[in-house]
Amino acid sequence: MPSTPIHDPSAPPVPGAATEIRTTTCYMCACRCGIRVHLRDGQVRYIDGNPDHPLNKGVICAKGSAGIMKQYSPARLTLPLRRKPGSERGAGEFEEITWDEAFATLESRLRHLRATDPKKFALFTGRDQMQALTGLFARQFGTPNYAAHGGFCSVNMAAGMIYTIGGSFWEFGGPDLERARVFVMIGTAEDHHSNPMKVALSKFKRAGGRFIAINPIRTGYAAIADQWIPIRPGSDGALLLALIHELIRLDLVDHEFLARYTNASQLVNLDSESDDYGLMLRNPQGDVVNPLRPHNFFWWDQATNAPVSDHAEGASPALTGRFTMPDGTPAAPAFELLKARVADCTPEWASAITGISADTIRSLAHELGTAARDQKISLPIAWTDSWGKRHESVTGSPVAFHAMRGLAAHSNGFQTIRALAILMSLLGTIDRPGGFRHKSPYPKAVPPNARPPKGPDAVKPDTPLNGAPLGWPEGPDDLFVDAAGEPVRIDKGFSWEHPLSAHGLMHNVITNAWRGDPYPIDTLMLFMANMAWNSTMNTSEVRKMLCDRTVTGEYKIPFLVVCDAFHSETTAYADLLLPDTTYLERHDCMSLLDRPISEFDGPVDSVRIPVLPPTGQCKPFQEVLVELASRLGFPVFVNPDGSRKYRDYPDFVVRYETAPGSGIGFLSGWRGENGDKALRGEPNPRQWDMYAQNNCVFHYRLPVEHQYMRNWNQGYLDWAQSAGLRRDRDPIVIHVYSEFLQRFRLAAQGRHPGKQPPERLRERVERFFDPLPFFYEPLEWQATDTDSFPLHAVTQRPMAMYHSWDSQNAWLRQIHTYNFLYVNTRTALDAGIGDGAWMWVESRWGKVRCLCRHSEAVEPGTVWTWNAIGKQRGAWSLDADANESQQGFLLNHLIREELPDGEAGGRISNSDPITGQAGWYDVRVRIRPAEAGEPAESWPQFDAMKPVSGMPAKAPRRQGWMAGLMKVIR
Ligand code: SF4
Repeated sequence: MPSTPIHDPSAPPVPGAATEIRTTTCYMCACRCGIRVHLRDGQVRYIDGNPDHPLNKGVICAKGSAGIMKQYSPARLTLPLRRKPGSERGAGEFEEITWDEAFATLESRLRHLRATDPKKFALFTGRDQMQALTGLFARQFGTPNYAAHGGFCSVNMAAGMIYTIGGSFWEFGGPDLERARVFVMIGTAEDHHSNPMKVALSKFKRAGGRFIAINPIRTGYAAIADQWIPIRPGSDGALLLALIHELIRLDLVDHEFLARYTNASQLVNLDSESDDYGLMLRNPQGDVVNPLRPHNFFWWDQATNAPVSDHAEGASPALTGRFTMPDGTPAAPAFELLKARVADCTPEWASAITGISADTIRSLAHELGTAARDQKISLPIAWTDSWGKRHESVTGSPVAFHAMRGLAAHSNGFQTIRALAILMSLLGTIDRPGGFRHKSPYPKAVPPNARPPKGPDAVKPDTPLNGAPLGWPEGPDDLFVDAAGEPVRIDKGFSWEHPLSAHGLMHNVITNAWRGDPYPIDTLMLFMANMAWNSTMNTSEVRKMLCDRTVTGEYKIPFLVVCDAFHSETTAYADLLLPDTTYLERHDCMSLLDRPISEFDGPVDSVRIPVLPPTGQCKPFQEVLVELASRLGFPVFVNPDGSRKYRDYPDFVVRYETAPGSGIGFLSGWRGENGDKALRGEPNPRQWDMYAQNNCVFHYRLPVEHQYMRNWNQGYLDWAQSAGLRRDRDPIVIHVYSEFLQRFRLAAQGRHPGKQPPERLRERVERFFDPLPFFYEPLEWQATDTDSFPLHAVTQRPMAMYHSWDSQNAWLRQIHTYNFLYVNTRTALDAGIGDGAWMWVESRWGKVRCLCRHSEAVEPGTVWTWNAIGKQRGAWSLDADANESQQGFLLNHLIREELPDGEAGGRISNSDPITGQAGWYDVRVRIRPAEAGEPAESWPQFDAMKPVSGMPAKAPRRQGWMAGLMKVIR
């Protein structure tokens, strides 16, 4: 008998109900799928995937469909609030104010700071997607103290890849699983590119592809892998170097690709007496191509046994060997130096570090190398390369990789990711079918052209910052330091401590500001960043810093502004609390200026368009910024007569151009007065309507001859320049060898003119700025007695939760209400800890009591848990006895934001010494059972938070929802 569905969402609604379907873009995670929101009588009835959206093609996940319960969550902040006069910061005592009062407070405070010392204002944001706007606001304000969450998340992935191949994973590039036959996922669990990755993996496996997961833990995508290779956290670099060693030993590298498209065949100066030691030799007679980034290198021509200009017609460049230049300078191709570097990186060497058997490493290298060599792909697509050579086809190898935070979140992550990018290049898989493919606006120059400001003079009262607050240094002179070589930014970004900190160091802001190192600040504004809980290390101490006072009784961080849509552990510390809207209540841009959703075949940007009015007095943060920028008279936001230029954020998006008349704005679709231009064109007053009529997405498909080999595809490069995606049109040669890193090393050796590191940091810079990748133990291991703390501890993000966002979501918290520490069964039994028992996990910095879950899906030397499930009591409108606080826990309490005093001659961030990436997967721990009689609850516990005005006075025990019919059940 056919079964009758209990509920058919497509059935006609109740008679008389007004129904409507509106499209927008999901924001239940950062993947940004297209969704359809079904409304009944103005309320959300359900949400499904938009089948006409290029990213998810109708697919929706558990989080996406649970957006209803986010919208109607009892944890919503709905009123602007001010800390009650006389109340303690952190006590959560607030009084209602109007938006006018909030703006007046901010305007007078910020106007004074901007007119006196702009760097005393710091703006740090979390997992928002409006960094083009927040960055512009900071720049126009004139403060260098701006960053989003990247330094805490995966800047190593971005920087390691971009400084090597000019692109990166996730929104800027990814694996071509349509044509790949072997796919290696390393250090990735549930990823940002969520639904598209799941769909692609499903098709890949059905088509017979082989999926290899390398991860300490078998969860998420790894659960469906054909082979799981468990690896010790932080050791990935050793594995990758051993794979490179094997590929070179077996001669399974793509010689032609390396010679023509990378700097592997360029000659490096090996005169150890020269100040240019380790830099590429330049040919004075060669064509510089681009004076800002000269390309006049040498090859060693095997036919004539003499140096020639790189890419000389008919030359046969050597990849190996050592040579003497006509002037006597010893030289070698970069590949020769790589070969020497990995000579000792044998599978046996890597096995001892990674825990993977040498045979497995050998067999993996052989599988990758032979698949790349023997299963070549050829597409009949003609194109011309940057040196004028016509190619009748595009070729590729069906070997693809994907990696993310597992590699990045270590203090050795940058060099590890350099090794991965070089491995991919040795296999010849960059922007070719079956391998890694770029997504617009990438590829960009190595490194991209944006530079941070160069010194304290860039910060002037009442003046926009001289340069973007974040950028990509090319050498020591691009560092943002004072005459003594000390940092100008509050997070010490772009200083000698972390020279290539392209995303800033969010995890050090509170500590540095509290200590007044390098200087005290006045106002810290946080947006969508839970920096008193899961978006910090050393959680308990950082919370105390927010309440600490000077001898005169003033808070050490005098004024804290928090803007968020939800009550969280951080909102209690606000002096001013601003209620943001949800993603269903506001306009948003997924912009090419920021983080678009491009596809391999061309640029894609998208928008959110409100499907509901703001709740209570909520106001989109974008509107707060546009309002403040207008009141404060930032040049970009006012007319020449000082009057306000933009009515509101949607008006700003339509009319703003990156430079007067540039034709480039936040959105690339339907530009021009009539909306008939793409990417570049005059502002179009109907642009939002046109996005609304087109599923909130704009997709520009490149002609097929521009879709591959984009680093060196002259047709594409010319187009990218004309479209404003690149400043220049020169080739983007892959940096197997990084002379940018060598420049920092030479400076540390006192052999490079210009900016010099402080003496205490010379050795550190010289050690880590190696132009070739190398493996070293993460800094925290080096500072820890690993016999006493033998285990690694890491976190992963579950499929059904995004960071800390979803514990207020009544549907999703049914999936993850609390978290276990997952311990390999053998490891747990050896420690005397039963399955489901309470246990302690301790690092040298602190301890946490939590529940143990035995697991065979984790390598024996690693323990792990889900990220951000544990909550403070009463936070997120949860009951004081909710599972999240009683049984849930955070690993963050075990991790310090700084290395022990004395490391590198003083306090220094627990981060990658090159990029400032937080080393939050580096912590070492030990475990023991809880004693009999201990309370059956997680530890540490904190006082219960109170709800604030505008929230329900009491958290609902149960919550249900039926649009138009039923609201909260108490
Ligand atoms: S993957 Fe992310 S963006 Fe896509 S539907 Fe799920 S929650 Fe929404």
